[in-house]
Amino acid sequence: MSGMTAGIYLLDNGFDVEIYEKHSIPGGECTGWVREGQYIDGCAHWLIGTNPGSSLYPIWEHIGAFENTHLYDNDNLSTYFFADGSVASLHSDITSLEKELIALSPKDKRQIRSFIRTIEAYTHVVIPTKKPIGAMNIFELISLGIKCLPFFGPYLKYRRTSVEEYAKKFKDKRIGDMLVRFMGGDYNMHSLFYVLQGFCTRDAGVPEGGSLKMAMRVANRFKSLGGVIHVASPVKKIVLGKSLVKGIELEDGTFVKADYVISSADAHFTFNKLLPDLKMPKFFKERFSKPADYQLRSAFQVSLQANCPMDDFPRMCDFEIPEEIVGKDRITSFVIRNHAFDKSLSRNHKALLTILLPTYEGTYDYLASLSKEEYASVKKDIGERFKKIAAEKLGIKEEDLVLLDVTSPLTYSHYANAYKGAYMSFLTTKKSKGLMVGCRVKGVRNLLLSGQWLMPPGGLPVALFTGKHAAYNICQLERKKFIDKEETRVKGALKTKIA
Ligand SMILES: Cc1cc2nc3c(=O)[nH]c(=O)nc-3n(C[C@H](O)[C@H](O)[C@H](O)COP(=O)(O)OP(=O)(O)OC[C@H]3O[C@@H](n4cnc5c(N)ncnc54)[C@H](O)[C@@H]3O)c2cc1C
Repeated sequence: MSGMTAGIYLLDNGFDVEIYEKHSIPGGECTGWVREGQYIDGCAHWLIGTNPGSSLYPIWEHIGAFENTHLYDNDNLSTYFFADGSVASLHSDITSLEKELIALSPKDKRQIRSFIRTIEAYTHVVIPTKKPIGAMNIFELISLGIKCLPFFGPYLKYRRTSVEEYAKKFKDKRIGDMLVRFMGGDYNMHSLFYVLQGFCTRDAGVPEGGSLKMAMRVANRFKSLGGVIHVASPVKKIVLGKSLVKGIELEDGTFVKADYVISSADAHFTFNKLLPDLKMPKFFKERFSKPADYQLRSAFQVSLQANCPMDDFPRMCDFEIPEEIVGKDRITSFVIRNHAFDKSLSRNHKALLTILLPTYEGTYDYLASLSKEEYASVKKDIGERFKKIAAEKLGIKEEDLVLLDVTSPLTYSHYANAYKGAYMSFLTTKKSKGLMVGCRVKGVRNLLLSGQWLMPPGGLPVALFTGKHAAYNICQLERKKFIDKEETRVKGALKTKIA
């Protein structure tokens, strides 16, 4: 996504742009695939920037991501089914959220109020989407600082607090459990508050038709502006001269000359495989060399088709379960994502259900050590186990669920060269340092980076604005004024309804 975004902004600015993509389709980790005739979505559960009033929306709109597309609002982050039979939801509407939590645990009223106030403070976060922070003048920096002021206090406080620690502030364990199950206990509260504000400002919806269609719309916008995408064209290395990049060499030996190269690939792959002679920037070295402090998360995805009506189930159903071993990880709760709300994804009125089971590096290493047969058997076992558990938890017959597919952490490294199968960047924990790194690579003037690795914990919004920022940087290097065409397009886009 970040490569195509950079490409669109560069085309707007008069550059010739060609993308070399390893996979047979564009989109990278923003993708989906078909099994037994059923489309399976492999990415966006929520997409920050779906509210037309938000700062990311004009960029999504400009790159064609939302063109002629209905955007579904997520009115509920997840519905939690507890072992004691109680049920509670994390609502997007902040008033309903407060009411629901107080109803669940009146004795936590004070803490719930403080939690709600902090989410409200986080609505003041402004992502610098217009230009990179490094390109801002003092007045722009002051203006940004003033807009963000209400969030600075909570940010300083909560960047050093893990979700697990914060969860203990609630007397009723269920509230803390909801937060831990939603985000993961290792993340810092700063990351959780940022996501929650996205939901509460109705800025975290999903486009109809899923992630693959969205990626294709962006690819089409890129091509319609004159860009060229070479698919199934893996890059072997970025060819480095003395202090400038000369171009790229493809796996088939072809050399492609370029004035500028942007690597939108995984950061570890970029510096270890594409640029083995270049010193890895400190930002990444520090993180990749301390895996305990900078964890990488991947997942198994179990995809099912439901042969029974699913319209009455919430979009995200989170169940507590007795411990299950998934690869080398342990799972005590899991989420069923019910795609029934998007009828365009249902084949013959049968809903798609997906289950994302989080894993860490240990599971990736374990899977990588297996033979082909052992690997297939691990996937089959996980698929069958979670099909059974899902049927049990949903209260439906197991025969009503069809196991369509199981993907693993190895899938992401196989298709997108994702290091350790990471589908996001480094987890942002209480030990995380710094927020982001710029697109320029020290010492090599015409080499740039874009993508989710530049601002942990990654995700599509980071891919989006770092793509734009890479284009901005190239214009600066060429001493050209950056032409930002998104403003003129967004006027029409503001009419788009979010329902
Ligand atoms: C299951 C799942 C759920 C997710 N849910 C969400 C969500 O709800 N919200 C959200 O915001 N994000 C979500 N994400 C994360 C999101 O998909 C990623 O953050 C985003 O797609 C990253 O985009 P990118 O452009 O930075 O990198 P990538 O998508 O990794 O793109 C890098 C591209 O480089 C290509 N490449 C790599 N090596 C080479 C090479 N040698 N030669 C040529 N091409 C190469 C890859 O094939 C790929 O196309 C999810 C991801 C997954 C897998």
